[in-house]
Amino acid sequence: MMSEKKYHCPRCGNEEIADYTDSFDCPSCNLEFDKKDCDELEESQILSVEEKLGIIKGLGLDINKETNSSNYSRDI
Ligand SMILES: [Zn+2]
Repeated sequence: MMSEKKYHCPRCGNEEIADYTDSFDCPSCNLEFDKKDCDELEESQILSVEEKLGIIKGLGLDINKETNSSNYSRDI
């Protein structure tokens, strides 16, 4: 078994990634991915950190909720 897993971008396959402790950045896609996701999920199921944040906002769990209630975005 391989003790050290080499990570690559699930979107473009780029192995020239910026490696962080728990995540990595793909400079080509300008997206950040969690290593945990890459370990547990199929490549096609992996979402970038940015996309996951977008989903959370889309579910109405926005922690940055503003008091202006007329500021709903309807871009679906
Ligand atoms: Zn990429």
